[in-house]
Amino acid sequence: MPVAFFGHGSPANTLDRNRYTEAWRTYAAAVPAPRAILVVSAHWYVPGVRLTAAVEPPTIHDFNARFAESLFAFEYRVKGSEEVVDRVAALLEPERVERDFTWGVDHGAYSVLAHLYPAANVPVVQLSIDRTKSPQEHYRLARRLAPLRREGIFILGSGNVVHNLELARFQPQLQPFPWALRHEERIRTLALEGDDERLVAYRTDGEDAKLSIPTPEHYLPLLYVLAQRQSGDVCATFAAGVEAGSLSMLSLSLSS
Ligand code: ZN
Repeated sequence: MPVAFFGHGSPANTLDRNRYTEAWRTYAAAVPAPRAILVVSAHWYVPGVRLTAAVEPPTIHDFNARFAESLFAFEYRVKGSEEVVDRVAALLEPERVERDFTWGVDHGAYSVLAHLYPAANVPVVQLSIDRTKSPQEHYRLARRLAPLRREGIFILGSGNVVHNLELARFQPQLQPFPWALRHEERIRTLALEGDDERLVAYRTDGEDAKLSIPTPEHYLPLLYVLAQRQSGDVCATFAAGVEAGSLSMLSLSLSS
């Protein structure tokens, strides 16, 4: 299986059709059907390593009230997978992994999955992002998941490589901030070159990185995807663009 990172942007992308959601759909159509999906979403940033263990993971409406009612009514009714949870927990050993029966599929996951697999017919398990870990620790932990690709499991990271909500303005025709465009391009270039070391060490990457990644949770899912890189893999981007001034929609995949 390939692995892919999706810049998910606004929760409204769940129901919208736009150039990003169309690019995601085109991407999914070209990927072999997975047996299950392991999602690392920016929106499950908690202390500790957890896996969603519910048989029917609930749809989590984790966004504020300014969004449309139709978005709060949206349900991504998908199955979990005890087998995948056991397998991932075994691969992550000796890391202590908690099985979480209350969290389900959050908007970082279903805003993308609603387009990739609208029929919700592929089981989904989410892996939390442990907020106590450094970027290096995340990358090393993610490396342990490498066997999953050969087992038909699609590893999906969902975040945004530029994500500054404080400076974001949701106005049409708004021009992206120059630093946001520069940083999206820098991430794209480093990912295509395979320079994971620089991408992991983003905190020392200067002013553009500071503005683009004021908090780590939307960036770290990228590291979970890049950590799956095997020799001979090709990295390709399938969506890019900065929305609301400071949200990068860069999406990329690794495939053999
Ligand atoms: Zn988000």
